[in-house]
Amino acid sequence: MISFKDFVQEDGGINWDAYNEAGKNAGERCVKCNGVITYPKAPRSLCVMCKSIDDDAEFNHDVFVRCPECRATQNVNSDCDDGEIYESGYHTIDCSECETEFDFETRISFSFASPKMGEK
Ligand SMILES: [Zn+2]
Ligand SMILES: [Zn+2]
Repeated sequence: MISFKDFVQEDGGINWDAYNEAGKNAGERCVKCNGVITYPKAPRSLCVMCKSIDDDAEFNHDVFVRCPECRATQNVNSDCDDGEIYESGYHTIDCSECETEFDFETRISFSFASPKMGEK
């Protein structure tokens, strides 16, 4: 398991680029979206979500939206600067490759964290 502690630089900061790259080489991180691969199988692989880009079915991803026309993907977090995309529901985006306008749906999921035992 790659640890960020192995990438501490002389100034005490962490070399995140080298850390992420080592994770990809070890198959622990997706080469496309940098997402964590829970059960690494091979070096330089794609996560389950990125693998499904080639399927024609509805595409679900934590980071990317896929153009229904040309299959190009774009990072919603960096390509949309208004906070609206983080609101649950439908939003419109233009494909960065072919300029097709399409709607995507933001689905929000929740998780609930309870205190440690003995803490209230
Ligand atoms: Zn991925
Ligand atoms: Zn497109």
